[in-house]
Amino acid sequence: MFDLTNQTAVVTGGNRGIGLGYARGLAKSGASVAIWSRSPERNQVAVDQLTALGADAFAAACDVTDPNSVNEALASTLEHFGAVHALFANAGTSGRMAFPDFDLEDWNDLFDVNVVGTLLPAQSVARHMIERGEGGSIAVTSSIGASHGLPVAPHYSASKAAQIGLVKALAVKLAKHNIRVNAICPGFVATELTEPEQTNEAFQTAIKQRVPLRRWGTPEDFEGLAVYLASGHSAFVTGAELVIDGGYSAF
Ligand code: NDP
Repeated sequence: MFDLTNQTAVVTGGNRGIGLGYARGLAKSGASVAIWSRSPERNQVAVDQLTALGADAFAAACDVTDPNSVNEALASTLEHFGAVHALFANAGTSGRMAFPDFDLEDWNDLFDVNVVGTLLPAQSVARHMIERGEGGSIAVTSSIGASHGLPVAPHYSASKAAQIGLVKALAVKLAKHNIRVNAICPGFVATELTEPEQTNEAFQTAIKQRVPLRRWGTPEDFEGLAVYLASGHSAFVTGAELVIDGGYSAF
């Protein structure tokens, strides 16, 4: 059942970090993978990595905040692969936001990527899945920041909580089409997004003490979860929040 041969997965934000972790796991299990991220150069590097794993890989230069760009990415993906069976809506950004003296533009820009940038790919892929009538799997990368307040980034926490609300609503809405919708909630994972925290010695020490498994997560930690969610092994899993945080939330 973990064989994903003849299955196609789209990974937004798949050219590095957690998204590339999902993509590698999917590729190793036989899936064809389409990367939707903005940078053509970085997309090509990711495609080369996935191809080296034996996968049929493809990339569309896509800005997930732009409906036309998302629709074009789906059209080119369907032209290449014919169908999409799983979507990992993973593209995201972070940043700091002061409170109460914040710049509303920072809030709106971050919500655009993290929330609108989840909604639009989910819309385009769900339409395609409904038309095909064979079900599918949509997984959204939220964060433990949705439920653990981040004082330096209220906009990030709020955007990640918004994704969970969207996941639950869509899980109920799309269940009759056998389209499952789940949230993945990573803890602290070593990627470009968290580079400032990784190079901050005080933060490093604090996080290691606070995470029962005593380490940062890595993109590799997300390979198997992607395979599980794209496969029939998760056929009864929808509307769930899957926490992958080395035990941080349990402590
Ligand atoms: P990275 O910064 O390593 O990767 C972000 C990815 O998103 C890149 O592929 C980037 O590609 C893409 N991206 C950003 N903006 C857009 C856009 N407008 N359109 C299309 N693609 C875009 O981040 P991570 O791998 O760490 O994060 C991935 C997800 O995981 C995010 O949603 C993040 O919030 C979440 N997360 C991360 C955690 C961590 O500790 N790292 C913890 C919890 C959640 P490009 O720039 O080429 O477009």
